[in-house]
Amino acid sequence: MLRIGIATIAATMLAGAAIAQQPAPAAPPPPDFSKVEIKTTDLGDHMYMLEGQGGNITVAVAGDGIIMVDGEFAPLHDKIKAAISAVSNQPVKYLINTHFHGDHTGGNALFAKDGVAIVAHVNVKNRLAAGTTNWLTGVKTPPAPADALPTKTYTDAYHIRLRGRVADLKHIANAHTDGDTYVWFRTANVLSTGDTFTNGRYPNIDFANGGNIKGMIAATDAYLKIVNDKTRIVPGHGPLGDKAALVEYRKMLVTARDRMAKLVKDGKSEDDVVAAKPFADLDAKWAMNDLAGKNFIRVVYHSLADKNDARTDNRKGAS
Ligand SMILES: [Zn+2]
Repeated sequence: MLRIGIATIAATMLAGAAIAQQPAPAAPPPPDFSKVEIKTTDLGDHMYMLEGQGGNITVAVAGDGIIMVDGEFAPLHDKIKAAISAVSNQPVKYLINTHFHGDHTGGNALFAKDGVAIVAHVNVKNRLAAGTTNWLTGVKTPPAPADALPTKTYTDAYHIRLRGRVADLKHIANAHTDGDTYVWFRTANVLSTGDTFTNGRYPNIDFANGGNIKGMIAATDAYLKIVNDKTRIVPGHGPLGDKAALVEYRKMLVTARDRMAKLVKDGKSEDDVVAAKPFADLDAKWAMNDLAGKNFIRVVYHSLADKNDARTDNRKGAS
C-alpha cells in the first residue's frame, strides 16, 4: 500500500517527467520530543543561537522585546520559552519563519497564542495554507490551521525594529523553497540563513516546492557580500558557522551544480545519475549517511533537469 501510495504521488508530481524506478524511502520516525534539550550559545550583543530538534533558532534581545528566527516544533514550545527566559525577561514580540518546513514553523500557533507576530515571505503562508508534499519521502503535510499561519507577510524585503535592534529580512527566490528569508542583524554581525545554508552537510533542496540549486548558490553569493571574518552565521542546520564555512559550502554547491549540469546535458536519467555517484568525493565531508548522499544527487538533478512550468504543474497536482 505504501509503495503504491508513493508511486501515485510521484506520478502525479512528475507529470510526464522521468519517474524514479525505486520507491521513495520512508519518512524517519518522529523524534521523541520529551528527550530533547535546548542548547543555548551566546553570540554576543544579546544574541543567542538555540539548538533543539529541527531548525536552529536565533534569539535577538532588544530593549523592549525579543525577535526570534524560527520556532522548531510545537511540542518544544515550553522548553524554548524556558531557554529564552534564562537569558532575558523580555517578551518575544516577533517570530520570523525562514521557510514553511515544519521543523521551522511547527511552533507558530503556540507562539501566536502568546501574542507573538509571525512574519514570513508570502509564499510561506501560501504553502502552509495549501498543504504540501515532500517529494523525497512522499509524506503529505495537510493545510495548516489558520492560527498557525504567518500574521504578517512580505514579498521582497522587510524590516523589524525594536529598541536598539533592527532585523533586516530579505527574500531569496527559488533556493531551498520558494519562500526563503534570511535575516541580517547588522549591528550584531549575526546572519540567520534558514536552510539555504546547512553547515557541514548537504542541504535539502525542496524542488517540488520551488527550490533550486541555482537559488541556493545565489543565496551564498548574497551572504558573502555582507559578512566578514567575524560574522556569526546561524545555519538552518548544523553548528554555528562563519565566513570560511560558508565559502566551503558554496564551493561544494558550485561543484555539484557543474557536474550535474554536464550529466543532464548528456541526457542522463535520474537513476543514471544516482548510479554514476557524481559527488562521491564530496560525500565524506557532506553526506551524513548514504541516503543523504543519494537524496542530494536527486534534488540537484531535479533542480537542473525539470522544466519550470512542469514544476509549477507538479505543485498544483500535488496540493
Ligand atoms: Zn527546510
